[in-house]
Amino acid sequence: MGVYAVTGSASGMGRAVAERLRVAGHVVIGVDIQAADIVADLSTAPGRRAAIEGVLAESGGRLDGAVLAAGLGPGPGANRPHLIMQVNYFGVVELLQGWQAALAATGHAKVVVFASNATTTTPAVPNRTVRALLDGNGDKAVRSVRIFGRQAPVFAYAGSKIALCRWLRGAAVTPGWAGAGIRLNAIAPGAILTPLLEEQLATPDGAKAIRSYPIPVGGFGDPGQIADWVVFMLSDAAAFLCGSVVFVDGGSDAYFRANDWPRTVPVRRLLAYLRRMRAFTPVP
Ligand code: NAD
Repeated sequence: MGVYAVTGSASGMGRAVAERLRVAGHVVIGVDIQAADIVADLSTAPGRRAAIEGVLAESGGRLDGAVLAAGLGPGPGANRPHLIMQVNYFGVVELLQGWQAALAATGHAKVVVFASNATTTTPAVPNRTVRALLDGNGDKAVRSVRIFGRQAPVFAYAGSKIALCRWLRGAAVTPGWAGAGIRLNAIAPGAILTPLLEEQLATPDGAKAIRSYPIPVGGFGDPGQIADWVVFMLSDAAAFLCGSVVFVDGGSDAYFRANDWPRTVPVRRLLAYLRRMRAFTPVP
């Protein structure tokens, strides 16, 4: 049986994942701002350090996997863009970097990060928001969404999740992660009925946006359905899954983006591959 760190374990999809893993006999170290094995505020650097160290101490420095579900939605409040950048982006990237050696120690670790289909269905997310986060500059990322006024949290949210996917896909294929036996993948849920979605449904603007949002299969998703996908992505079946963002969203991404994906490889990446092919000597 394995040892798994689960952030956002107190509510919604993180809680559903933690419950399933515990029922299957695994040890779960839950991390959350409330009601968790390790209570830590992931919106602050000291809170993130406490989460990293707490999990390393409880796991004895060996993790079979991690699920990063703690996150804030695009709710109201002037400080919300700041909290979104800190929890949704740095609360994932810094924790994984802090746990990297513990994940490598087991030689077969699987990581599932919670992205969102907001990554591909939110229009006009500034590139500079994403770039600022990838550069580690949360304050600059917050400034970049101020132009959106009351809607700033919507763009902060999508920007934080896009940056997260870009970081993940870049890191996943490198020697320190793929080469260390760690599989980094993301799940991108659509509208799932959890307290996070209920918070958005509780405001007239939020309710209007969500109720009119196209979900081809109809209705909202259930946290348990997503948890089942996550548990599958933690299993041996995921040994060959690396850097993937798995959309489970009732068809909303396909509705908006049917012709955008798959895309052919950009020329500069192709040239790098051709150079590698030329230098390759086949073993007879
Ligand atoms: P939720 O609100 O039920 O759970 C989120 C958890 O994160 C809570 O337990 C909360 O306490 C914790 N959290 C929030 N701020 C924190 C902080 N500062 N420090 C530590 N923990 C903190 O939400 P959910 O819907 O289960 O969301 C899980 C993940 O899925 C999030 O990353 C969210 O962005 C993502 N997501 C949700 C939806 C949806 O429709 N519900 C859709 C796409 C993606």
